[in-house]
Amino acid sequence: MSDQSFAPLSPPDPVRPDWHPETRLVHAGTLRSQFGETSEAMFLTQGFVYRTAEECEARFAGPSGGFLYSRFSNPTVAMLEHRMAAFEGAEAARATASGMAAVTAALVGPVKAGDHVVAAKQLFGSCRWILEDYLPRFGVASTLVDGRDLDQWRAAVRPSTRLFFLESPTNPTLEVIDIAAVADIAHAAGAVLVVDNVFATAVWQSPLALGADCVVYSATKHIDGQGRCMGGLILASEKFIQDHVHMLLRQTGPCLSPFNAWVMLKGLETLSLRVERQTATAAAVADALAGHPKIERLVYPGRPDHPQADVVRKQMRAGSTLVAFDVAGGKAGSFRFMNALKLAAITNNLGDSKSLVTHPAITTHQRLSAAERAELGIGDGLIRFSAGLEHKDDVVADLLGALEKV
Ligand SMILES: *Cc1c(COP(=O)(O)O)cnc(C)c1O
Repeated sequence: MSDQSFAPLSPPDPVRPDWHPETRLVHAGTLRSQFGETSEAMFLTQGFVYRTAEECEARFAGPSGGFLYSRFSNPTVAMLEHRMAAFEGAEAARATASGMAAVTAALVGPVKAGDHVVAAKQLFGSCRWILEDYLPRFGVASTLVDGRDLDQWRAAVRPSTRLFFLESPTNPTLEVIDIAAVADIAHAAGAVLVVDNVFATAVWQSPLALGADCVVYSATKHIDGQGRCMGGLILASEKFIQDHVHMLLRQTGPCLSPFNAWVMLKGLETLSLRVERQTATAAAVADALAGHPKIERLVYPGRPDHPQADVVRKQMRAGSTLVAFDVAGGKAGSFRFMNALKLAAITNNLGDSKSLVTHPAITTHQRLSAAERAELGIGDGLIRFSAGLEHKDDVVADLLGALEKV
């Protein structure tokens, strides 16, 4: 082989303050190797080698910035973390193997035995399990409140309350919780607020700017956006990450595979394009279905008839890629609807390039009792629709055609 003493190319700026969000999604955090690749490289490696024993010693001893082991950090994963932090406007980010790994670290990291957590009961099923079944084993109690009712948040505070947790819009009924108001209550109580921002996406809602202390994502959803890889992200101040999640992630090991990180990194480049298209389709679906004789109730954060339309205007830049609606005829009616769809697929997932429908009562919220589901507005005819990247007219025609079979 010829002498190829490649000198590393000087990397592009990780992020410039004047870059718009869309530019950050394409460029922020890029690390370029000595080969000068245009597209970010996938560093599929567990470990790293050192030129000398002295360099090895120095890397381990101090904050030299070099990589040590991919459970701690990896160049491809670091690019994803930096790019997402630049887009979200966060000081720091950590990527995880799944959305639930991110939620778990953000909920477990800040608490210890004797502490108390307050959370909205309108939550993703697995998040409820952590609060109701898992944390109590370690002496961390939780109170679930109706997230829309600020008085319930205030009343739930105890001297030991350390953490508030919510999701907005909520899964699956797309109700909206006032993030700034809940952040104020949390801070007055000396607690931190963690927000699961999957349903709004970073494109339409910025919880940190609204006062939250930490934002978590299932990157499995819109960040990958094409139904391929599992992943998660935690974004917060450098202090929050160092105090609460840095060591937990390093030592317990829910690290993101560099392959999945690369898929997500390339996913970020098209995130705003995709979410804008999906939101336009969801809005068209909401308008076409609202008032339809076979639809008993429809909730879409982009419509003026949304139950918390004033809060939506205050904290979201646009609606959502999701629409929730009750099909007439309960379980039988909604089953006939789903079985008559020709384009939208029946799944329990969301945020894909393909339009999807979910029946929460038999899937994501099946673990809850019928009474608990009723309390959350999850009826037997409820459908959660996730807009894909198809032409909106084809999607609307598919849903209207299926409603005729109800
Ligand atoms: C999917 C989802 C999660 C969990 O993410 P995974 O990547 O499936 O682990 C958490 N919160 C919300 C709101 C979700 O939609």
